[in-house]
Amino acid sequence: MMKPFYYEPFVTELCDPELDGRVPGTPGHDTARTMIVNSLADLKLEPLLASGYEQSYKAAMGGITGRNLLGVKRGTGAQGKWVLLGAHYDHLAGCPGASDNAASVGVVLEAIRRLSERHHDCDVVVAIFDMEEPPFFNDERSMGSYIFHDRCPEGFDLALLQCAVVLDLVGHQTEIPGKEQSLFALGVQSGPGLKQALFDAREPLSDLEVYGSSVHVGLSDHNVFYENQRPHLFLTSGRAHHYHTANDTIDKLDFKKMSNISELIANFVVSLDRNQTAERFTEDDHAAEMSRFFQKEIDVDQLPLVLMQLQAKL
Ligand SMILES: [Zn+2]
Repeated sequence: MMKPFYYEPFVTELCDPELDGRVPGTPGHDTARTMIVNSLADLKLEPLLASGYEQSYKAAMGGITGRNLLGVKRGTGAQGKWVLLGAHYDHLAGCPGASDNAASVGVVLEAIRRLSERHHDCDVVVAIFDMEEPPFFNDERSMGSYIFHDRCPEGFDLALLQCAVVLDLVGHQTEIPGKEQSLFALGVQSGPGLKQALFDAREPLSDLEVYGSSVHVGLSDHNVFYENQRPHLFLTSGRAHHYHTANDTIDKLDFKKMSNISELIANFVVSLDRNQTAERFTEDDHAAEMSRFFQKEIDVDQLPLVLMQLQAKL
C-alpha cells in the first residue's frame, strides 16, 4: 500500500510561481528558506551549526549571500559516522522549478519523517544546498555544496561520511516510454556497502525501477563528493523536456513516484548501517543493471557504448 506523501502541499507551495524561481537574493528565495527552516524545526532536527540551521557565506560570484540549510537527525550508535541527504533549493527566474528541485527537497524531508519510526545508527545530515543553478553552478567559491564540503561543520568528519545521497530532478516521470518509474542511482561504486544497501532498499518497492550505475554525470551537488573521492549516490529521474523552462510545473510531478523514492532513501539509510563493509559495485554488476534497463543482454565490453546512450538521457 502506498504511504501518504506528507509534503505534497509543501512542494506545491515551494514551486508556486509567486516565488519566481527562488533566486538567491530575492523575496521568493527568502520565502522558500523560511518554509524549509520551519520544516527542519518541525522534524525536530538539531541545527548543524551553533548559530542555527543556516550556513551563510559570501558567494564569489555576484558577491551576494548564499545560505545552506543544515540539520541533523541523530542515530543511536553513530560513533561519528554519518550519512548526508542533500538537494538544492534555489532555481531560476521565471521558472517554477517543480522537478528542479522543489520535489527533491520534499522527498528528503519525507524520508526523514519516515525515518522517525525506524532505527538507524548513523547520524543523518539534511543539507538543503543553495546556489546550485547558474551562474553559481560548479563555481567552487559560490556553489553551496562546495562551500559545505570546504567548511564542513565541527563534529562532522568527512572521513566518517558513509554516503552523500544527492537528489536532483527526481519528481517527474522519466521520458522514456515504458520507463516512467525509472530512477538512476549514479556513483554506487564509490563506497563499500552502497551496492548492498541500494539493492536492499529497492527490493520491497515493486513500482519503482532503480538502476545503479558507476557513470559520473556532473550535473549537481554530488560533484564535490565525487571530486574528493567521498562515497556518494546521485539520484535522478533524468532530464525532462521542460528542464529549465517555465513549464517545469507542479502538474508534471508524480507524487506516487516521489513517495517511493522517499521510502527508498529511508530503507537505504537503515540498510547501510549493517552493510558498511560489504563489497563494492563492480563492472559486472554495472552490466547487469544496464541489461535490465535496456532489456537486452549487455556485457562489460559493451558498457562504454550503452553508457553513452544512458548519459544522453540524463
Ligand atoms: Zn537545474
